[in-house]
Amino acid sequence: MKEKRDLYQDLESILYSKEQLSEAVSELGARITNDFQGKTPVMICILKGATVFFCDLIRQINLPLEIEFMAVSSYGASTKSSGEVRLVKDLDRSIHGRDVIIVEDIVDSGMTLNFLKKSLISRGAVSLRIATLLDKPARRVAPLTVDYSCFEIPDAFVVGYGLDYNEVYRNLPDIGILSPRIYAE
Ligand code: 5GP
Repeated sequence: MKEKRDLYQDLESILYSKEQLSEAVSELGARITNDFQGKTPVMICILKGATVFFCDLIRQINLPLEIEFMAVSSYGASTKSSGEVRLVKDLDRSIHGRDVIIVEDIVDSGMTLNFLKKSLISRGAVSLRIATLLDKPARRVAPLTVDYSCFEIPDAFVVGYGLDYNEVYRNLPDIGILSPRIYAE
């Protein structure tokens, strides 16, 4: 018989429950709806970590908007960034003259968003804002202004609600701190 696997056993603790996430995402959606009145923003989802947050967030925004997807190189099977950012999937359409909102799962060193911000401004976006679910300001290396953030978190490696470790745990509905025994293995 196969051993039963419970993803929650790999967590040290739950940081935010699905109810807390849902409430924070609704509040952020209302703020964006208010701030972008009269505009049709292009919302860019950064694959793959931001997907769950992105799908919930866009449904809390009562505005005409367009969606796009971008992917950059990630941590792979590590919990520390390589510091090198590489574009893996680009936008399908031009953002020239558009109001852009980049939607990210978590800002850690800030290197990824710094790279994306420069790239998108050089393509002629008229305005560019950053919305992140989680912010780890203690680990910031690159200077970056985060316009919208749902939660500031301590320096711990978190998974769930789209965030992975080695491609696993994205489907957890809550956000939890991954037990260090998992990445020590
Ligand atoms: P930065 O370039 O800001 O250092 O890193 C941003 C990316 O690193 C995020 O999009 C995410 O993919 C990954 N990352 C940073 N911290 C964590 C974390 O605690 N958990 C997970 N799963 N990914 C993280």
